[in-house]
This record gives sequence, structure tokens and C-alpha cells, in this order.
Amino acid sequence: MTSASLNSEPATGSSSDAGSALSADQVTVHFGGLAALSDVSIAVAEGSIAGLVGPNGAGKSTLLAVLSGLLRPDRGRVWLRGEDVSNVSVRSRSRRGMARTFQQPELFLGLTVREHLVLTYRARVAPKRLWRDMIDPRSVLPPPKSETDRVDGLLELLNLTQVANVPVAALPLGIVRLVEVGRALASDPHVVLLDEPLSGLDMRASENLMGVFRRIIDQTDHPLSLVIVEHDIAAVLSLSDTVFVLDFGQLIAAGSPDEIRNDPAVQAAYLGDNEPLKRAQFGPPERGR
Ligand code: ADP
Ligand code: MG
Repeated sequence: MTSASLNSEPATGSSSDAGSALSADQVTVHFGGLAALSDVSIAVAEGSIAGLVGPNGAGKSTLLAVLSGLLRPDRGRVWLRGEDVSNVSVRSRSRRGMARTFQQPELFLGLTVREHLVLTYRARVAPKRLWRDMIDPRSVLPPPKSETDRVDGLLELLNLTQVANVPVAALPLGIVRLVEVGRALASDPHVVLLDEPLSGLDMRASENLMGVFRRIIDQTDHPLSLVIVEHDIAAVLSLSDTVFVLDFGQLIAAGSPDEIRNDPAVQAAYLGDNEPLKRAQFGPPERGR
């Protein structure tokens, strides 16, 4: 694979992953003597949901950090929509269409749901206005129709219309997670990375959030892909188009949920912690295949 120069804008077709929304190519990361990731390659198709699972310490968060640009790998490359972004900063990756949510939501508790989305939207399309409104709130102008339409659309997509004017401090975690997703979507990204979006949610909130993920993919006007790191393998298998399984820093399986369910290496990795697999309706174990 040839590597694109930093300034080429964008690099075209020089990678076998050029057709993917996002890919990691032979990524290796060491922390001291520990190989957190060894030669890991994944490719996320446009308009798809990719699940990234694996036992604790498998390297999921490390891979997400490499994809988002927070961490530079020792070896390997990252491609975003056909462009080699290996040496591109987090900010520049976000300008190129990558967004992410955090495990710990970073929200302003006093602001309402709508205000969060408005702020994120303005930070992108009208940063000067954002600054002026902060300096002199009395000068706040009525919002342009394009902004109101976009924010209303997001609220509806996320099932948040009813709580639009409630401060986020008063809302349960499931709703707060939706606001985080909304903030990521307000920048009109092509790829959103989500770090354990279901953690701490009860079953109902999880199901609602997963339904929203599906809808987001189906209803955007441009191709959008989600990369979801999740502890809950049952949820990932039910939600994802493609699943990548890490174990001790190695990619041990990649495929459709059905392929992953029946993969002996995956079953072995989860042995001793078999409950999640049973919940995922692993069916009768087909060992020795
Ligand atoms: P996961 O998210 O799958 O639980 P991580 O990617 O967080 O796994 O971690 C993979 C391995 O790398 C673990 O053994 C972890 O202890 C180690 N690790 C992660 N981050 C660091 C770090 N900043 N410094 C040293 N070791 C780390
Ligand atoms: Mg982690």
C-alpha cells in the first residue's frame, strides 16, 4: 500500500481500503513491553454499523484512540474516506467528517437539550455568532430558519422533542447519551465513533438508543457509519452489520453477526464468561467445526 503525502487533498484510490468510510491498516501499539494492539486491520463500510467487542483489556479503547487520532500507533495507518489520515490531528479528522462520543458525557448541566444542539451547530456553522452571543447575551438574535430546522430534525430523529427544553441535569442517563449522540451528529459527520454508549443503561434505555442508531443510519441524507465499542456483545451482535473481535490486542474474528456467533475463536475468548454469549443466542455450541 502506498502512503499518501500529508497535503494531498484527498488521496485517491491508493489504498485497498479506499472504498471504506474508515479503516485501520496493520495497526500496532505498544505500552512499554505490552502489545495493546498487534497488526490490527479493520474496514468499516459506508453507511454501516461496525461493532468492536472483546474482553476487558483487549485493546478496544486503544483502537478507538488510534482511529480518532488521539493516539499515534507505533506502526500502521488510518484511512478516512479514501484519505490517509495517519498523520492528521483529531481536529482535522473532525473537519474531514469524523465525530466521537465519550464514555463520560461532557455536557453543561444547566443547559437544555435544545441549547446543547444549538451550541454544537453554531460552533460549526456560525462560530462568530457563538462568540458574540456569549459576550453580550442581550444582543442574541433570533435563530436563522436553517438552524431551527436542523435542530428540530435532530431532536425528532433522537426522540428528544418532548424534552427539548429540559436542562440536561434533570434527565436520566439514557437521555443524556442521546444528547451526546445528537452533539456528534450536529457536525454532519460521515463517521461517528462511540465508546460504550450503552454502559450504565437499563434494558429499555439500551433498546431505545439502539433503535435510534439504526434510524440515524437509515435516515441521513449522506452516508454515515457508526463504530461502536461495546462491552455488551449481545447488543453489538443484534445491532451491527459487521463485528470485529479483539482479544489480547489481536483481531481474532471479523464478520457478520452470524459468522461471529459461530466462530470458535470467539467462543474460546469468551469461555468462562459465557453468559453474554448465551444471551446473544449463540445457539447450540458448534465446537470443533
Ligand atoms: P479495552 O478497551 O478493550 O478494555 P484497552 O485498549 O483500554 O482495552 O487496553 C488494552 C491494554 O493496554 C490493556 O492491557 C491496558 O492495561 C493497556 N493500556 C491501555 N492504555 C494504556 C496506557 N495509557 N498505558 C499503559 N497501558 C495501557
Ligand atoms: Mg475500554
